Amino acid sequence: MKVIVVGCTHAGTFAIKRAIADHPDAEVTVYEKNDNISFLSCGIALYLGKEIKNNDPQGLFYSSPEELESLGANVQMKHEVTEIDSKAKTIKVKDLTSGEEKEETYDKLIMTTGSLPIVPPIPGIDSKRVYLCKNWNDAKKLFDEAPKAKSITVIGSGYIGAELAEAYSNQNFDVNLVDGSERVLYKYFDPKFTEILAEDYENHGVNLELGSKVAAFEEQADGIIVKTNDDKEIKSDIAILCIGFKPNTSLLDGQVDMMDNGAIITDDYMHSTNHDIFAAGDSAAVHYNPTGQNAYIPLATNAVRQGLLVGENLTEDKTKYMGTQSSSGLKLYGRTYVSTGLNMAAAKAQNINAHQVIVEDNYRPEFMKTTDSVLMSLVYDPDSRRILGGALTSMYDVSQSANVLSVCIQNKNTIDDLAMVDMLFQPQFDRPFNYLNILAQAAQAKETKK
Ligand SMILES: Cc1cc2nc3c(=O)[nH]c(=O)nc-3n(C[C@H](O)[C@H](O)[C@H](O)COP(=O)(O)OP(=O)(O)OC[C@H]3O[C@@H](n4cnc5c(N)ncnc54)[C@H](O)[C@@H]3O)c2cc1C
Repeated sequence: MKVIVVGCTHAGTFAIKRAIADHPDAEVTVYEKNDNISFLSCGIALYLGKEIKNNDPQGLFYSSPEELESLGANVQMKHEVTEIDSKAKTIKVKDLTSGEEKEETYDKLIMTTGSLPIVPPIPGIDSKRVYLCKNWNDAKKLFDEAPKAKSITVIGSGYIGAELAEAYSNQNFDVNLVDGSERVLYKYFDPKFTEILAEDYENHGVNLELGSKVAAFEEQADGIIVKTNDDKEIKSDIAILCIGFKPNTSLLDGQVDMMDNGAIITDDYMHSTNHDIFAAGDSAAVHYNPTGQNAYIPLATNAVRQGLLVGENLTEDKTKYMGTQSSSGLKLYGRTYVSTGLNMAAAKAQNINAHQVIVEDNYRPEFMKTTDSVLMSLVYDPDSRRILGGALTSMYDVSQSANVLSVCIQNKNTIDDLAMVDMLFQPQFDRPFNYLNILAQAAQAKETKK
């Protein structure tokens, strides 16, 4: 069986390893257009914030072409797949070093081509002072060239822009954070949470330019001016564009079913609508459990899980995809922000009937020498009482509590389940009722009062 893998960062690496482990007779060839694999982009802001061990970005790679070769894969780096013919089951591939092109056949094709940063056709966007933040090549430019800058404008306040703005401000750069929405991280957190973050940014000297869309860039000899649709002119040494990603799937246009944005739709076993073509990671749609619908949520968490499943299900439908809650987390200025599933803004945008409780409580008893307050939100369906989403922020590490909520959503648990589920009690950690129990009890109280 000839297996061709197109693209090798996270989804590709996990698919290859599992495909080889589960199908030792398969002939697995991978084509990757870059010169590296498995780079963890989440480390870019950590490196810039000087939080990486030995300040060595090589630790941000967890595999290598050599490792995949030692497992038995035929690894073709700096090779770009330029065409896929799903009827003939052939691909065309270009050796980017020699320029040579060739055609190959496959029995199974694994589409792990990931995503591309969204780069809108704004005047001046091609300036060398405008940087992207996606892969190792972008990271190298930011690591090597950007330190010469003293002032930075970060465009986009999703989790990537939010982390970059924090990292640069902690290193005493002058930072502007621009976003068309009125709130930072608005897709993940409701206003009570984002107000805390906005205040933290301001206390650390970050100039927030919210509700302003970038209309043009003007490169100057000593910097770049970001011009907005509300006539602001923000000058800095460089700008970094972080306004989102789109699936990189044009090779399969018209050959498999896709969402409107080009994310490949798969079945529960990661087959596209062409049974011999699998998709995983940022090139694929996810099954979003809070709504039961397909969604585009480009996260490494989804990429590694879907990649593994492709490897497992290559010849036989063995393991079903569980879907995702899109759980994610950040640490900004020492404070943990975590979320899973729907927030109220997302529920409203999708016309989902949802109720919410917001509770603030100390995570452990006040008689302890120290404690910290935790701000929590729970979003649920008032009819079925099913939990649809949640978020927490605290100076205490509440990250694993988002994972508990994620399991609740996955397992279709109700507010009544969470209100009473057994959780350990010890004053070092929490109260007789864990703060998540208390959050769900507040939801029960709200529904009884109606
Ligand atoms: C700055 C940053 C921080 C992030 N932080 C987090 C985080 O904290 N947590 C989290 O879960 N996710 C995070 N993510 C998202 C995560 O990095 C992506 O979801 C993940 O990289 C997706 O992996 P992938 O393998 O599907 O796709 P990609 O990483 O996009 O890789 C696709 C690969 O395919 C190759 N390719 C594409 N087309 C071709 C072709 N025609 N021929 C050959 N090769 C091709 C590309 O060169 C690339 O190597 C972050 C992303 C960024 C940019």
